[in-house]
Amino acid sequence: MEPRTVTLHDCDFDTYICEEEIIAHITMMGEQLDKDYADKNPLFLAVLNGSFMFAADLMKRISIASEISFIRLSSYKDMQSTGTVKEILGLSEEVKGRHVVVLEDIVDTGHTVHGLLQQLEAKEPASLEVATLLLKPDCLQHDLKIRYVAKSIPNDFVVGYGLDYNGLGRNLRDIYKIVS
Ligand code: 5GP
Repeated sequence: MEPRTVTLHDCDFDTYICEEEIIAHITMMGEQLDKDYADKNPLFLAVLNGSFMFAADLMKRISIASEISFIRLSSYKDMQSTGTVKEILGLSEEVKGRHVVVLEDIVDTGHTVHGLLQQLEAKEPASLEVATLLLKPDCLQHDLKIRYVAKSIPNDFVVGYGLDYNGLGRNLRDIYKIVS
């Protein structure tokens, strides 16, 4: 794929993962979830804003009975993780006794998912797993068990396919990485 450059605010980004590759990874993840959660009626909790596109494409590839709800929880400002964990907003479903799968756009330091899992664990789900579109393994600062990973990437700042840079870039169909 010829790199295509987009400029968002003051930064240039080159194409990195094309839509076809993203969808291929998500299709495999959907097949795995179908197998692992057959007859379990899982509750998917998609973390807004970044996971909206991933959640939509994943749900179209899930064929078992399942539910989805959207929550908010973010600790990220500009390109630096602040490390602060915020509370869960918008969770109206009963989590107790449910098989919960958190849908994240990207796991970087792991602060966000770590804090979220702690809060969800306290609500006594029957099981609790994380499915993330992207994982930066080199950045992880927590001993997190991320069961479903569409793609692992190096420590580059990426945008597109739901991920933003200060509000821009969520609409891009491919994933782009910052030009360093
Ligand atoms: P963590 O708490 O794991 O450090 O960061 C998780 C959150 O930071 C993600 O949900 C996402 O919103 C944001 N984030 C982390 N890395 C990136 C990145 O490379 N690009 C964008 N756009 N957001 C990121």
